[in-house]
Amino acid sequence: MTGTLDIGWIGIDGPAPHQAHGEKAYLLAKAAAAGLDVPPAFVLPADWGGDVGPALAKLEAAAGAKLGDPERPLLLAVRPAAEMAAGGVAPAILNIGVTTQTLPALRACLGERVAQDLWRRLIHSYGAGALSVEGEEFEYALHDTLRVAGATSEAALSATCLADLAQASLALIDDAGEAFPDDPRAQLDGALAALPQAWGSRRAKLRRQAMGADEDAPMVLIVQAMALGLGPTPSGAGVADLREEASGAPCLTGRYLDQAQGEDALMGLRTPMVLLAEERAARGLHVPALEDVAPAVVPALREAGEVLEAAIGDGVSLEFTIEAGRLWVLEVKRAKRSARAAVQIAVDLASRGVIKPEEALMRIDPGHLEEQLHPAIDPVARRTVLGQGLPASPGGASGRLVFSPDAAEVAAARGEQTILALIETSPEDIRGMHAAAGVLTVRGGMTSHAAVVARGLGKPCVVGARDLILSRKEGALRTADGRALTEGTVVTVDGTVGQLLDGTMPMIQPETSGAFATLMTWADEARCLGVRVNADTGLDATTAESFGAEGIGLCRTEHMFFQRGRITAMREMIMAEDTESRKAALATLLPMQRGDFVELFQSMPGRPVTVRLLDPPLHEFLPHSEAELGDMAASLGVPVAKVAQRAAELAEFNPMLGKRGCRIGIAYPEIYEMQARAIFEAAIEAGRITGSPVRPEIMIPLVSAVREIEVLRTHIDRIAAIVRELQGEMVDYTVGVMIETPRACLRAGDMAHICGFLSFGTNDLTQMLYGLSRDDAGRFMPDYVAQNVFAHDPFHSLDVEGVGEMIEVAIERAKARAPGISLGLCGEHGGDPASVDFCERAGLDYVSCSPYRVPVARLAAAQAAIRSRSAD
Ligand code: PEP
Ligand code: MG
Repeated sequence: MTGTLDIGWIGIDGPAPHQAHGEKAYLLAKAAAAGLDVPPAFVLPADWGGDVGPALAKLEAAAGAKLGDPERPLLLAVRPAAEMAAGGVAPAILNIGVTTQTLPALRACLGERVAQDLWRRLIHSYGAGALSVEGEEFEYALHDTLRVAGATSEAALSATCLADLAQASLALIDDAGEAFPDDPRAQLDGALAALPQAWGSRRAKLRRQAMGADEDAPMVLIVQAMALGLGPTPSGAGVADLREEASGAPCLTGRYLDQAQGEDALMGLRTPMVLLAEERAARGLHVPALEDVAPAVVPALREAGEVLEAAIGDGVSLEFTIEAGRLWVLEVKRAKRSARAAVQIAVDLASRGVIKPEEALMRIDPGHLEEQLHPAIDPVARRTVLGQGLPASPGGASGRLVFSPDAAEVAAARGEQTILALIETSPEDIRGMHAAAGVLTVRGGMTSHAAVVARGLGKPCVVGARDLILSRKEGALRTADGRALTEGTVVTVDGTVGQLLDGTMPMIQPETSGAFATLMTWADEARCLGVRVNADTGLDATTAESFGAEGIGLCRTEHMFFQRGRITAMREMIMAEDTESRKAALATLLPMQRGDFVELFQSMPGRPVTVRLLDPPLHEFLPHSEAELGDMAASLGVPVAKVAQRAAELAEFNPMLGKRGCRIGIAYPEIYEMQARAIFEAAIEAGRITGSPVRPEIMIPLVSAVREIEVLRTHIDRIAAIVRELQGEMVDYTVGVMIETPRACLRAGDMAHICGFLSFGTNDLTQMLYGLSRDDAGRFMPDYVAQNVFAHDPFHSLDVEGVGEMIEVAIERAKARAPGISLGLCGEHGGDPASVDFCERAGLDYVSCSPYRVPVARLAAAQAAIRSRSAD
């Protein structure tokens, strides 16, 4: 805004201010251009060094009055304005032009009391804004006058009291060694010189810095004719919201004070009125409503709101003045809005043809959609923060603290809500996580087990709450300030911001019909990238389908083995010492797996379903404590020593780089064979039930060599042939791989040649490319991000520079060898908007993400497509 800007004109012939003049001037000019009553004004860049005389003359002509005219004086306001985010703007100087010369005319026209009120108001605002007197001094002077007069508010002060107050205020200026100019041009010039100085002062810069705004943000000065707000009834000033902040629905709420100016209605000087009688009744208030004192203003405000929405293309709130019954718009702001309200407003405006649906799509932050699918903590509720961690899964939940998955299950059986707090979770905790209303872990990062599972379940979750200590000995969660939260303490997790809060909190319930659904339909029309879901159960898949998932991109089969009744068979299989006994245990698991897959295939009839073969190291299925090992030995009927020995055999230094993924399939082919058989048999059964053939996509995890695929594919094909033989039906299936090791990226060409699809597992790929444990990253990631060592957590948002380049190399090589190959991404990044944008640009076919992120990915994909179309 500095140096290069010309004067902008509001309600006066001449070029209107544009966005470079700042939001305030720009929106006000839009209001004037739309035909609303806006007092005429001109907008000066703060560094505009020229003579304001000619501009003033134009303003005087438009207002039909002259500054300093003893017959018909024009009064002016000088309003500093800056970019929306700049903050720390000094208050406006109002009523410039009241002098001993013009007072008689004001007295004649408005009466003695109003004239004196205008006079003392100018002295206050000029003294504080353009001279060196602290605003507080004038406040004390006012309070002294009120005390002497025995009045409770300035509205009750007589003309004489106001005149005395004016004199007392002038004396304050005198005492400060300053002189109040009794000349209108001197007042205007003084204001124009002082306000930029105040803006550029060290104090103002520090204030902007403290508010996180640009300390060198430019400003403009709006020189505007006054709409008085004082004088014949109804006169006053107020603010009006035309969209509800929480829902975005049209409304008319606000505050109004009669015989008032500027921001008086917000200052708490007197109890303001509400705008509508209906609001007064609903809130049980005993104040008058604007509707009672100025009924004609209410429809005018509503109309102004509609006109402005159409002119600006956004929801608005207003600052207004009523002068003898006439409504003047003094400031227009974009309506404050919650994430849900943003959707409502954008969809409303696009449905009315004010903006295009594409514009509506681009206005919504996809990251905010997920919140709308969960109960959210009321943003205005007071919160007492007990601990801070990473916002791993959004939404809010309240309940009693429990420190074990079993306690969560027991409480759930009694119908009680719990918050499960653990050091970190492991696959065996999944039932407890199911049972709890929310989860908190002291350790862990954005792709730790707790984070991934909670997102899948749609449970609010905070991970890596490092300022909390979970002490088993004490049986309590200890906060940084030493408070011990024992089991049963009622707390709330806010997974949207990553906080643990004291007590229960009021919640806002989710809403996915109406505007949300319309926005999603537009997103689907705009996007090219497919969106699938990472779902392990039919229930997850059904939820995700209702959120618009077009298939399952990843079913992590290991989660199925942790269900009650299965873990024992799984452990028997792990304990087996030879192939035959392993096969016997697998035979017990086969019907269970088949049942799972039937349910899964049925939940997505006619849509692609990718089933990943077993991935985690086997030791994850074994219990950890000695007591649990004892229980396991008892239930399997084997000595504890044997169980302990097997557990020791399976222990690895680096399990995530050890015997996991396809390496298990190579070492124990019978495990993958059982899974393949369950998949084929279930496909046939589900196809028969739904009448829609199932074409399973079998995915091999953690490959790094082409030969791994060849070996495992041979086993899978052999099982397919056996099932066909037995069932007399052929399953049309494809075999593909997860590309989640760097080597797999480099070998993607050869792999694509022998696979039906490739799916990027960016959780492991990020871990391996950075050499950074996904489960432990939470320990230092906040420091890294805070110090800008990493711009963001690469487990949360894809590292486009490194991991992204690796993916691009893989895509190029894969497409060169197999042009038609299907390419997806199923790491957690599939639900992160910036990562989805990368996927669109990189040329992937689909992303797959946790159920509650499906709408996020749909919108992010639409935005990515719109962006790439507009770049063409
Ligand atoms: C991945 O590594 O990106 C992935 C999807 O698999 P998992 O998170 O189960 O390792
Ligand atoms: Mg993986």
